[in-house]
Amino acid sequence: MYTITVIPGDGIGKEVVGGALKVLEAVSKKYKHQFTFKHALAGGAALDAVGIPLPDETLKSCRSSDAVLLGAVGGPKWDDNPPNLKPEQALLGLRKNLGLYANIRPAKIFSALLNASALKREVVEGIDIVVVRELTGGIYFGTPRGIETKNGEPVATNTLVYAESEIQRIAKSAFDIARKRRKKVCSVDKANILETSQLWRKTVVSVAQQYPDVELSHMYVDNCAMQLVRNPRQFDVIVTENMFGDILSDEAAMLTGSIGMLASASLGGKVALYEPVHGSAPDIAGQDKANPLATVASVALMLRFSFDLQKEAEDVESAIEKVLDNGYRTPDIVTENSKKIGTQEMAERLCSAIVTS
Ligand code: NAD
Repeated sequence: MYTITVIPGDGIGKEVVGGALKVLEAVSKKYKHQFTFKHALAGGAALDAVGIPLPDETLKSCRSSDAVLLGAVGGPKWDDNPPNLKPEQALLGLRKNLGLYANIRPAKIFSALLNASALKREVVEGIDIVVVRELTGGIYFGTPRGIETKNGEPVATNTLVYAESEIQRIAKSAFDIARKRRKKVCSVDKANILETSQLWRKTVVSVAQQYPDVELSHMYVDNCAMQLVRNPRQFDVIVTENMFGDILSDEAAMLTGSIGMLASASLGGKVALYEPVHGSAPDIAGQDKANPLATVASVALMLRFSFDLQKEAEDVESAIEKVLDNGYRTPDIVTENSKKIGTQEMAERLCSAIVTS
């Protein structure tokens, strides 16, 4: 029996999470597992209901669960809110409070989607990358921060800070993951300019000594952004700090055809959080157009990392592959010869693929 706190959030969050829960129900039916879902509020939905983006009740529910599944938060309705009352504060709060310092983002191309990538087939064929992003440090959290008036004009400040221990633990996560894959870690920084990056590089080199079987390389972030579109197959595991990872993992997402395909797991504490990489996509919300595959693939990561249900995770991933191979696509990945379907039908087709496999 597994208890999962479910936070649909805003916009397409509700639709994609709805699809992912159907898939979990299909897994439970096939393997006779019992998944208990505890629904909770965060983001704009929580602001509307109780006036804050991350209610204590939600945090309490997460802490007493075996895993958390989140859709997405945010939307134009709350864009003008003061910083502490923005929906996105819920994400930062969840990561901090649950101690989730490692964000794992796999970017793997499905053969059926080779033509959906913005890049040429010969560039993206066979890519299988994991971006390991540090999640609780860096410029998103550093102080001092704020906007003040100096010499009669507004001046904004953010601070980039990393402690050695923060770098050590994320480096270890990356090396551990690489050990189970092709045993290559590329550490991405800006050590030619930033002191935080110099400490980052020195610390990663020192952690690497415990992993003599894993090959370590270093790359500046601007070069990495270029190499990801020039020759993405060179990468196995990329490890990097919070803001660089935020940008590079979205770039890696596009290699796979759509941001709607990219799953993520945030690990580190007792309870892990699983969510698609994309946002709440207000432009398509409520229209049955959202691609639920990133959320469904996040559920596969949950089965693997939190519940150690390897066979079940593989079943979910094979179902995604099968439905795509059969030519079914949501609008974001549709091609000339494929069949366009909505969010709900995609979920139903995945469920049938799981139950009949
Ligand atoms: P977005 O990811 O929501 O959308 C970017 C583009 O990708 C849009 O055109 C959208 O239609 C498309 N898209 C995204 N997910 C899709 C899916 N599953 N299927 C099909 N198409 C999809 O990013 P944005 O527009 O920059 O942000 C919208 C809101 O989401 C903002 O309020 C932002 O702060 C928030 N946001 C939340 C998260 C999160 O909850 N983790 C992440 C990013 C952005």
